[in-house]
Amino acid sequence: MHAISLLQIAPTLAEFFEVRLNSPARPVTSILNFMHTCNPHVVVLVVIDSLDLHVYSEFAAELEVLHRLVEQNGLLFAFEQVSSHTTPAIASLLTGLDPESHEIVVSADVAASKIKSILEILDDEGMPTAAVLDTNGAKPLLGRMSHVFGVEDREDIVAYDEEIKTHTLAVLQKQDVRLVLSHLRSIDRFAHRGWDLQIAARITNGNMKEITEAARDRDGMLFICGDHAAHRKARNVAQDTIPIPIPVPLIVASPYP
Ligand SMILES: [Zn+2]
Repeated sequence: MHAISLLQIAPTLAEFFEVRLNSPARPVTSILNFMHTCNPHVVVLVVIDSLDLHVYSEFAAELEVLHRLVEQNGLLFAFEQVSSHTTPAIASLLTGLDPESHEIVVSADVAASKIKSILEILDDEGMPTAAVLDTNGAKPLLGRMSHVFGVEDREDIVAYDEEIKTHTLAVLQKQDVRLVLSHLRSIDRFAHRGWDLQIAARITNGNMKEITEAARDRDGMLFICGDHAAHRKARNVAQDTIPIPIPVPLIVASPYP
């Protein structure tokens, strides 16, 4: 497992798609080489909210789809979170800029921001992109890229993720789409509530299984990552006093039949 920065993901995608992105971060050569070998028609970037390396390892049995992708041919990386909050972390993922530079704290800031994400840049260059995320995050993106699906936040996060998955599968049917962002939130919600993460991991795995199959059917590649370390209710006090957040995984994979 190699250490990278979250900020390198957007520059890597920009380099592959041959578009210009303003970021101080460098593309990741091993990912680029892999991408050039696979030459994917579409890249599906799935953010699994609160997926950190502890969750990834502890629930390896439940998250078997992710582990299988790595075992087959996938690359596994680890990065330090740039923010413990979802919106700034995803903004960094999509812009290649740290939170101090993009200044996106809440979804409403996206509307006011002059900084374009990799989704908008690709779309502007004639390579249609899609985003499937909560309504608040989706609203500012409407009209700035080809396909935007907002899913209403709710207490029933399992039903919410089901809808995210359904829209993701639907947009993957569109032949022209080159990059899809999808944001699954069950693990994060279960962690915040102190609920059984095993259940959330199993639900996430089920959704990832279908997204993986859909990506494979479109000769696609998957980028699967967390956004920040899980906000877990104290299960181990000693661990919660460790000031360094747990690193976050990125899996880059080209799914097999
Ligand atoms: Zn988050």
